[in-house]
Amino acid sequence: MTTNGQQEILLNVSGLKMYFPITQGIIFQRHVGDIKAVDGLNFFIRKGETLGLVGESGCGKSTTGRAILQLYRPTAGTVEFKGVELTSLKGESLRRMRRHMQMIFQDPYASLNPRMTVGSIVGEPLEVHNIATGKEKRERVRELLHIVGLNPYFINRYPHEFSGGQRQRIGVARALAVQPDFIVCDEPISALDVSIQAQVINLLEDLQERFGLTYLFIAHDLAVVRHISDRIAVMYLGKIVELTDRKTLYEQPLHPYTQALLSAVPIPDPRKELEREKHRVILEGDVPSPAHPPKGCNFCTRCPAKERALKETGINCDEVEPEFKEIAPDHWVACHLYN
Ligand code: SF4
Repeated sequence: MTTNGQQEILLNVSGLKMYFPITQGIIFQRHVGDIKAVDGLNFFIRKGETLGLVGESGCGKSTTGRAILQLYRPTAGTVEFKGVELTSLKGESLRRMRRHMQMIFQDPYASLNPRMTVGSIVGEPLEVHNIATGKEKRERVRELLHIVGLNPYFINRYPHEFSGGQRQRIGVARALAVQPDFIVCDEPISALDVSIQAQVINLLEDLQERFGLTYLFIAHDLAVVRHISDRIAVMYLGKIVELTDRKTLYEQPLHPYTQALLSAVPIPDPRKELEREKHRVILEGDVPSPAHPPKGCNFCTRCPAKERALKETGINCDEVEPEFKEIAPDHWVACHLYN
């Protein structure tokens, strides 16, 4: 297994692509193009850390999470987890690896089967992976409910009897049942009331410390991931445009898209907020379709720094795609201004 500095690398993603084919015709379906949901990602996650993955809806964040867990089989690239390459695994060997990687879903209302009791929902992975059955399983489920802050006597209740925050705790207990090393948290708080969000974040942090978990934490805005992430990757139209540690990202964002996202994050101090208002970057236009991404830089249709890049570097961003490069230790950017 590789290491980076002192810390072991748990997950290494290289050249990851996830394309969904577009077909035409009713009887003879012709392949006429692809939706490039994820288009060549390179990053790693160290053991015990939280990598925040941020971007607007539809930028490919959730698809990335699913492709890592092999819930979608990637079109290209590799996903190395604990030194094992997952994209070539099948059947029993893939099932065995999946036990170490779990997912917490965005919508606690939709992700729990309404006809199953909490005991069956949380206990199901224990049976699937032959970890426990019968009395032992019920004991383990009670313990898991206790760990996530739910009353163990709720074991025979159904999802509709719980609040949104409690349902998300059930989802967390289910993910924890198989004692995973890595959890993809796919917008786990965005469907919850603001008052409940902090509780779920605190629970996830406590569990990380207690069980040495590693998280990929997906969110659509930078305010949410700030508290929980060690490092943050910013995603736009299927690609990561910037990745660095939390402090550097918030204090010295380099990519024009990161700068625009950050300028929209509210600041609690009203005086600073007024000052910042003057520098707010309003992005014009819409995100292009992932079926027809721009030829050069994928942000070129909305980038306020495009002219400056042409002047300073002589490179036309509409024509030439920037490389995702490490421009300082642990700071990667895909922009001609820094390449
Ligand atoms: Fe903007 Fe050009 Fe940098 Fe892309 S490469 S972010 S278009 S300046």
